[in-house]
Amino acid sequence: MTRSACRTVAPAAVMTLCCLLAVSCANGHREPYTGVEPAVRDLAGFESDLRAAVGEAPGASLVQAGMAAGEFDAPVWLVRIERQGASRRVLLCAGIHGNEPAGPAFALEAVRSLCADASLFPDASFDVVALLNPWGWSRDVRYDRAGIDPNRDFATFASDTARAVRQVAAGRRYDLVLDHHEDPDAKGFYLYQYADPDTRPTRGLIAKVKKMGFPVEQDVRMVILRTRDGLIEAPRWGLWYMRASRRLSMSNWLRLEGAAKVYTVETPTLLPLEDRLLLHRTAFEALVSSALSGGVQ
Ligand SMILES: [Zn+2]
Repeated sequence: MTRSACRTVAPAAVMTLCCLLAVSCANGHREPYTGVEPAVRDLAGFESDLRAAVGEAPGASLVQAGMAAGEFDAPVWLVRIERQGASRRVLLCAGIHGNEPAGPAFALEAVRSLCADASLFPDASFDVVALLNPWGWSRDVRYDRAGIDPNRDFATFASDTARAVRQVAAGRRYDLVLDHHEDPDAKGFYLYQYADPDTRPTRGLIAKVKKMGFPVEQDVRMVILRTRDGLIEAPRWGLWYMRASRRLSMSNWLRLEGAAKVYTVETPTLLPLEDRLLLHRTAFEALVSSALSGGVQ
């Protein structure tokens, strides 16, 4: 390729990737945001379920990572599950977009399982933020109370959610980060990996999902780029570009901060909730297993 061709292609590639990273999981806000949407889910009930899931489990604690503040006040809860002698640390996040309910439902289930059974992934300690955007979740709205998309706020940290995550991650280096999302426009399961050339864990997971009889997304709606058989690979330079354009997502930020393996899991909301939960569970188990078995570099 000639130099002039490079100069022509590079900006196009940047624009293309910008679309890819910016639009990811972004098709869900069909409804106009007003900030006065009525509550459709019970935050107090979710908190009480989370407390019950943690219970008296050894090494497990529920701490406040932040506060979704303003006219609407709700804590952002962090569950810490410390396994004695564990050499790895995993961060599991969900509910950064309020209209993607399978993520928080799965994260609650994961807290329940991990707290009830210390033999489950014994070599890893877990930090779980099951509901990153309490206002959005309670209203079934993508944004937070201030109208910010928290998953585009990790260059600016204007949102309560982004600041809570920054506090959770302070001083920690995660071996694995999983962010559980949903896509109201997708027809099948898909996932992202970031600045990571090793596609064996994700390709293995996608093959498993297919074998289970679920559809795999071939065509996430974007300007130019699409999923390639259920997988989107974001290169490191794209993450830097998103930081420079001040639309950095949580996953992008955590990868740039040094998390070794970072994945975003997406389920199509057109499937029944039970199936979406199964897909999130399958992804979690496969990706944690892979990371703990030496996949982490
Ligand atoms: Zn999302």
